[in-house]
Amino acid sequence: MMSDNTVKATREVARLIRPDVLAMAPYTPILPFEVLSEQLGRPPEEIVKLDANENPYGPSQKALQALASLESVAHIYPDPEARHLREKLADYTGVPVGHILAGAGADELIDLTARLFLDRGDAVANCPPTFGMYPFDAALAGARVVNVPRRADFSLDVEGIERAALGSDAKLLFLTTPNNPDGGLLEEAVLDRLLRLPLAVVVDEAYVEFSGAESFAGRVPAEPNLIVLRTFSKWAGLAGLRIGYGLFPLTLIEQLWKIKQPYNVSAAADHAARAALDDLPHLQQDIARIRAERDRLYAALSEFPQLSPYPSRANFVLCRVARMDAGALKRRLAEDYGILVRHFNKPGLADHVRISAGRPDQTDALLGALRAIFEEDTP
Ligand code: PMP
Repeated sequence: MMSDNTVKATREVARLIRPDVLAMAPYTPILPFEVLSEQLGRPPEEIVKLDANENPYGPSQKALQALASLESVAHIYPDPEARHLREKLADYTGVPVGHILAGAGADELIDLTARLFLDRGDAVANCPPTFGMYPFDAALAGARVVNVPRRADFSLDVEGIERAALGSDAKLLFLTTPNNPDGGLLEEAVLDRLLRLPLAVVVDEAYVEFSGAESFAGRVPAEPNLIVLRTFSKWAGLAGLRIGYGLFPLTLIEQLWKIKQPYNVSAAADHAARAALDDLPHLQQDIARIRAERDRLYAALSEFPQLSPYPSRANFVLCRVARMDAGALKRRLAEDYGILVRHFNKPGLADHVRISAGRPDQTDALLGALRAIFEEDTP
């Protein structure tokens, strides 16, 4: 029991908190794997995790070796400029090192970009359904999010974006290619048109390695208002280490260096990412396997009359669910089969699930479970 004095002090300290933070909806944590495994009553190795677009093949052996030999670096602060990693990234992306900033996942680069531009009351243009961190970071900066919903096929409403951006004086526009959750690509002609707006365009390429499409990274040096974000979380299997990077115009990166935390990239993440870049042929094989599995998954899902998958260029497939509640399907897969997929409890997506491309045996398990669930459900 709290004493009266403690209760009073708690109330007083709460009054010091930013009102906009107090008004925010509470954080809904993602359950860690161990907790899920306990809840589902299955050991972690029996769970088929297809809910967060992680790499089912894990990190490369070279990255694991780098992690096992950190004894000479773990007690020393990491290089605040991640010089070696950024040099390798310059080779990988073809963009000069001066444009590259590394961070704790693409998430940190989204946050830093929001901090760089947004003052209280500023506007940000967002195109839902898309990745949830853009409105999150915008809200945290006290900015207004101007939503321009995608069309039914998830393509961008370009005129709508132009109208909304100009009408709200938006400073930032977030675009994603391939987009999460549908896996569709941003067309270059659309990007060209949107780059003419008087704002900074952030193109989030978290899944570009799976797309077979050319990255827009190479255009950054010539475009004063184009930012491209990339990550090692998906293609390189390093989601747990938190390592991503952004490609920024020089005028922006100069200011970003001032506001980033000095040691935002851990030594472990830095070394593992460098090792991953030294192991590209191996990782590219895994990417090819994941892409093949995505295409098999799409074709197999199309066979179920209850499911309408969307063609995807990422490592996941979004699927509309008919004749059954999508939330119930997600629960049945998890509880009865230990298979995790993502259900979106959001308007426009409530009857959808997103399924990550896994290993062939994981796809087999999923398809078997879907067959059983739908057969049972058919009167
Ligand atoms: N952008 C998109 C579109 C994503 O889907 C994700 C991860 N779900 C991220 C960024 C975050 O990537 P990271 O793990 O590098 O923070």
